[in-house]
Amino acid sequence: MDERQRRKVATMLEFYEDLGIEEFYIGRAGIAKVASDRGRAISGDGARRSASAEVKHGPRPQTSNVGFEKPPAAQSKQAAALQTTAAPGPMAQSMSLFETSSQAMAPREDETLEQIREDLGDCHRCRLASGRHTIVFGQGNPHADLVFVGEGPGADEDAQGLPFVGRAGRLLNRMIELAGMKREDVYICNIVKCRPPNNRTPLPDEIETCSPFLLRQIRTIKPRLVCCLGAPAVKTLLGVKEGITKIRGQFYDFQGTKALPTFHPAYVLRNPREEKILREDFQKIVEFLASLH
Ligand code: SF4
Repeated sequence: MDERQRRKVATMLEFYEDLGIEEFYIGRAGIAKVASDRGRAISGDGARRSASAEVKHGPRPQTSNVGFEKPPAAQSKQAAALQTTAAPGPMAQSMSLFETSSQAMAPREDETLEQIREDLGDCHRCRLASGRHTIVFGQGNPHADLVFVGEGPGADEDAQGLPFVGRAGRLLNRMIELAGMKREDVYICNIVKCRPPNNRTPLPDEIETCSPFLLRQIRTIKPRLVCCLGAPAVKTLLGVKEGITKIRGQFYDFQGTKALPTFHPAYVLRNPREEKILREDFQKIVEFLASLH
């Protein structure tokens, strides 16, 4: 391994460490590619480019049930994903995994969530397929102003095929209702769509493989705000390396719209005193959305 490769691996290991991942598979396909891609992204010029997606909103249709039905198997579409805009202030140096996976797959113009779900098919693109019962695609209003992005399905979600339906989901529902919204008003999904074994944090190559579908969902929904629930979602969408306690409650530019990191509800369940902070962040969400009208 030459010096350049060593630097790439060191950068990637630092990235894993930020996600709380300290154990690794040796020789797993994909990890070296992620390290290589990330190194390229970090050293490349013009890594941060503005998103070109325009935010347009139509009337709110019925809640989407995409992801609850078994789709026909379909071929994946190859292409480029969207770019993430630069985060403000000290975060501007960071990069998201979307940039590293930007050649993974391209959205079709004006595609629907149903088409994205069809492309996903009976997905076996990463190792998480082997332990799942159900792909948890996402749930909610396909034109929601607000999208929540969590980490990955847990046992309840895997069993039901729906995101955030366990204890953490009930806390999320309560926060949504306290904020004056209904669950069916928003869209809820995760950075990976299959349950990681023992609820471990998804590995970077799993995130890299799955996240283009998330990106396409967000592009299709065109929300006014994306709420990143927990550090892995923040890292994936915004590329921000700072800890969630430091950056939560701040607004970031993201694909022509805004993103706000906050605690994952599962973390708040383990640390009940943080519920006050979670409520504060939801209040910011409400005020931000209200300011748009
Ligand atoms: S986590 Fe995503 S990429 Fe991996 S098998 Fe599931 S749907 Fe496919």
